[in-house]
Amino acid sequence: MRTGKGLGIVNGMASGKLVVVQPRTPLHLEAEKTADPRHELDMYLKAREEALLQLRLLQEQSTATLGKEQAAIFEAQAMMLMDEDFEDAVSSLILKKNLSATQAVKAGGRKIAALFLGMEDERMRSKSADILDLVQRLHSILSGQTEIPVPPPEAFILLAEDLSPSELIQWRSPLLKGIVLSRGSAHSHLAILAAAMKIPCLISADIEPDQARGNTRIALDATAGFFYLDPGVEFMSRFNQKISREDSNGQIPVDLRFYSPRGEEIEVLANIGSPEELDPDLQKNCQGIGLFRSEFIFMGRRELPSEEEQFELYRRLATGMKGKKVVIRTLDIGADKDAPCLNLAKEENPALGNRGIRLCLQRPELFRTQLRAVCRAAVYGKLMLLVPMLISVDELLQVKRLLLDIQQELRQEGLEIPDLPLGAMIETPASVMLCKELAAEADFLSIGTNDLTQYTLAIDRQNPELASLYQQAHPALLRMLREVIRAAKAAQIPCSICGGLAQDTKHTAMLIDMGFSAFSMAPVHIPGFKKFLYEHYSRSEPSL
Ligand code: PEP
Ligand code: MG
Repeated sequence: MRTGKGLGIVNGMASGKLVVVQPRTPLHLEAEKTADPRHELDMYLKAREEALLQLRLLQEQSTATLGKEQAAIFEAQAMMLMDEDFEDAVSSLILKKNLSATQAVKAGGRKIAALFLGMEDERMRSKSADILDLVQRLHSILSGQTEIPVPPPEAFILLAEDLSPSELIQWRSPLLKGIVLSRGSAHSHLAILAAAMKIPCLISADIEPDQARGNTRIALDATAGFFYLDPGVEFMSRFNQKISREDSNGQIPVDLRFYSPRGEEIEVLANIGSPEELDPDLQKNCQGIGLFRSEFIFMGRRELPSEEEQFELYRRLATGMKGKKVVIRTLDIGADKDAPCLNLAKEENPALGNRGIRLCLQRPELFRTQLRAVCRAAVYGKLMLLVPMLISVDELLQVKRLLLDIQQELRQEGLEIPDLPLGAMIETPASVMLCKELAAEADFLSIGTNDLTQYTLAIDRQNPELASLYQQAHPALLRMLREVIRAAKAAQIPCSICGGLAQDTKHTAMLIDMGFSAFSMAPVHIPGFKKFLYEHYSRSEPSL
């Protein structure tokens, strides 16, 4: 058995089969010519067969775990792979230009992807990402990389250098029990997604994926920050007993309410990314959804979600929370969150790029669809809208105007829709400097300390090398938080914290002293947070 350490970012214990995810090889081979084009063509056709097999398996697996809709991605890719144009493009480069199979796949695939990308229709444009995925798959097969595209049929734990949110979505399965990353970051969207999926996750683990063999067993204790590779049968059986004890001990009182020394009720809210995370326990265990990251609806899919699909989803959130508030953050895609259906351009500095509200204001049709769906769903519960990545009051005013316009449009269509409170997210230094003006225009504020820390300290929230410097309770941040809560109180509007600082009980007492009383966090952190409140603050049984 080998014992290793890491930093647990989603607590919990798990055990299962180790699945090693090797990093994808970048596609930058130098041009190689071949003296034997027939052999290269043969290689290509064999790789195509293997790719087809992988896609079929992926399709079967994802139909079972994710549903037909997500699985359709793989079916579409299989059709593209067998398409005559694709085959012609690759084979003519091999036979006429004497390119190697790998090089021909790369050049031919990219040419076709570029053709799609140049098309007017958004749906056609989105196909270029599929082609590039196919190129990557063929490339991996041709270069002998053993990709494991199919989750195994038993409990498993992923080991990778790092994973993107969309890669994790690809691996999503009820059998995925844990994640171990040799790099990773506590503040990445992968971390947020893992917390949302309640998957114990260890980052900065002292193991490289290429040092590990797949198919061995692994035990993971992310709470303690350890993993055990290849443990003996006896160790594993004791470990599994501990897992069962933890599962049955984790109960905390659900219906209690807590109060600050000033007598304000302390709101414990949840951050989620899909209605699947709403279970009856969560509905009871929090006072509402403080942050619904709507961009997760757009990720891992090739086609944009329609107004109807979004409406259904927001309606489920509204009804599922039974009158408790649900703050829907408008699409905050960009930076480390990519969505093939949006065809985002590659950027040098994506964290400083076209993301959040900037992107939405540039694509009014995309934004209108989301706003219409939220307005319609607001009939079914207490929905609120939150605008991310603001850097000016004008951006908030533009959203306000658009919202009014849409509400009027819907009322003219005969719908009786309620007004929708509009909140400003404070997560850029500019928005802190403008917090008084934003508070004057907004119905509520919510502070995203993950990005606010990144942009204030000039530290990439995903860079593990700088993790010790990335401090959400840095004095500069605390001074900013004080400014913001003052502005909110002066404007008599609520202000919550929805970034990682909200769940960190080391700072809760200080934040409550500052005047904060609403904390929104991943559901996995709510029991620990409530335990802290239980031990330090006054409480009462709810009147209902
Ligand atoms: C934040 O930035 O603190 C936040 C809550 O938003 P996200 O983590 O989704 O960027
Ligand atoms: Mg943010």
